[in-house]
Amino acid sequence: MSQKSSRHGPPSHDQLLTLLERLTRYRDSHMVRLSAMQSLLALIRPKGIRLYDVLKKGEQYSVVLSAWNEGETLHFSEGVISEDRFEPIATDTLLAKSIAEGSGCFCGMQGSGYECCIPVLMDDEPVSVFEIQGDKPFDDASIAMATGMISVYRNYLALLEDSQRDTLTGLLNRKTFDTGFAVFLSSAVHLDAELQDDRRSHKEGSHWLAVMDIDHFKRVNDTFGHLYGDEVLILMANLMRGSFRQGDRLYRFGGEEFVVLMRDVDFADVKKKLDDFREKVEQHVFPQVGQVTISIGFTSVMPTSTPAMVLGEADEALYYAKGHGRNQVRCYGELVEQKLLAEKTVHTEVDYF
Ligand code: GH3
Ligand code: MG
Ligand code: MG
Repeated sequence: MSQKSSRHGPPSHDQLLTLLERLTRYRDSHMVRLSAMQSLLALIRPKGIRLYDVLKKGEQYSVVLSAWNEGETLHFSEGVISEDRFEPIATDTLLAKSIAEGSGCFCGMQGSGYECCIPVLMDDEPVSVFEIQGDKPFDDASIAMATGMISVYRNYLALLEDSQRDTLTGLLNRKTFDTGFAVFLSSAVHLDAELQDDRRSHKEGSHWLAVMDIDHFKRVNDTFGHLYGDEVLILMANLMRGSFRQGDRLYRFGGEEFVVLMRDVDFADVKKKLDDFREKVEQHVFPQVGQVTISIGFTSVMPTSTPAMVLGEADEALYYAKGHGRNQVRCYGELVEQKLLAEKTVHTEVDYF
């Protein structure tokens, strides 16, 4: 996707205020990112500007280009960028130094031009880096403006992130599911057309939604009290973070219900992944409470799926699991195929009664 940026003369107070207003106008992190790029182009008029997302794997940092300019036109990668697109950075670059140092601003010569790299930190970890390129060294005023604007961008992004998180567990909250689902779908790879035609086949698709619900959680609260119940929820979220991939979206939907959106996995892998997680929870010793189990229902996410549709299907599979012994993983498509569940009919016409 691309968008035109506008360039003016040296920044006036009015222009600065307009840029700040524009930066904080959006609730969508992609738009905020674009707006930050636009502001930097307008303020310091560099030759080029690139924004890299940073991923830490073990002690190694990898990067992927997520937004860039071509003249006055901005481009950015839409949707969630999968982990395998991140690449290790060449260690002798300013970009690598700025990430390793994790603060401030790194300016100097790079190749035949000049560069200024400014990392964006969240919880003391670099999550992205602005790489600003010029034909001549950047003056102090330009550097000060760039670091200032990037600080505002970081603070606003942190605030936006906070509003999307569940306060108890830190997972994404219910409120953000519909928007997150749309982003998730927009970045979905093209699915095999033949498979799209058959929604019932459990071999279909490569994107999935799972609903997970703690078994007999009421008993946990009744026996040990709400504080221990809350502790179980926090530990459950930690187990999820440690088990699923960075590109997967993890939600707490309120109560003791969790939702996971997974990309680019086939049926066998997703089933194994979810069953491994179920077993991991079963094996975990929760302080005081001891053993806790979960039931999981999952379904495939198609390009035409709506949030209500997939949540309904995964819920049906979950309730099948609840009704058939709990502590198990069930797939909606598989249950329909085995005639253990009736397929939901999608009503496209108005029902008269
Ligand atoms: P099932 O196996 O059928 O899922 O049984 P369950 O007892 O887990 O299900 P039920 O929906 O009856 O109970 C869910 C309980 O979750 C009820 C409520 O007290 C508790 N709960 C909801 N939100 C919270 C929370 O934020 N903290 C704590 N500690 N408990 C919560
Ligand atoms: Mg429950
Ligand atoms: Mg429940």
